[in-house]
Amino acid sequence: MKILVAVKRVVDYNIKVRIKPDGSDVDINGVKMGVNPFDENGIEEALRLKEQGKASEIVAVTLGAATNQDVLRHALAMGVDRAVLVESTVDLQPLGVAKLLKAVVEREQPDLIILGKQAIDDDAGQTGQMLAALLGYAQGTFASALKIEGDEAIVTREVDGGSEELALAMPAVVTADLRLNEPRFVKLPNLMLARKKPIETLSASELNVDFKPRLKLLKVSEPPARKPGIKVGSVEELLNKLRAHEGIEL
Ligand code: AMP
Repeated sequence: MKILVAVKRVVDYNIKVRIKPDGSDVDINGVKMGVNPFDENGIEEALRLKEQGKASEIVAVTLGAATNQDVLRHALAMGVDRAVLVESTVDLQPLGVAKLLKAVVEREQPDLIILGKQAIDDDAGQTGQMLAALLGYAQGTFASALKIEGDEAIVTREVDGGSEELALAMPAVVTADLRLNEPRFVKLPNLMLARKKPIETLSASELNVDFKPRLKLLKVSEPPARKPGIKVGSVEELLNKLRAHEGIEL
């Protein structure tokens, strides 16, 4: 079984992003970037399936500028077998990414495609669903557990009030939730070795897909500032304030 994992380069999750003074976008100049956290869960799950003898090859793919190579090196250091960069200088949006990934799927013919449930930069949460629809494949989104049984992928996903289990006929698309696993720590020697591994580069324009942006970002603004909190002197005072504020019986 061959697995394709999508890996997006995003602003590091520890960074508090700043907005450009003109509100046209967030300012990512000089900001630390890294693998989208949900994609690390996707890579980890693919590695575990290989370690269980369920998968034979894992290919990581990223789409974007040449600088995206660093997230592929991270995936190689974690243990994926091959890495593919689909290079584009155009702003890539979920529909464009899904169409380009479909072209990569047609070349690579994976049995399972794992994406993150969302990218933490744009929070779109759309690409996996669009890719499955474009391919006509089954989809198991927000997966918190995944196992392979014969030619089916069994996906557990959180739903209101519990969880549901789906059997997907493969080839299929799965999107990873953080609950899926705890990604392994990447050791420095593995990162050094990954720097020497080859990365296959394709130009997005050679894939014959219309990936031009369909959405225009109009404005970015800060969330409203939170009102400062107050300290109360006693539980009694707190209860009185809550009673007065909420009009509730305590
Ligand atoms: P989104 O729909 O933008 O929230 O992204 C969902 C998932 O799609 C991400 O977690 C990635 O697995 C994948 N994805 C989105 N954009 C890219 C990209 N430029 N390169 C690789 N994977 C991507």
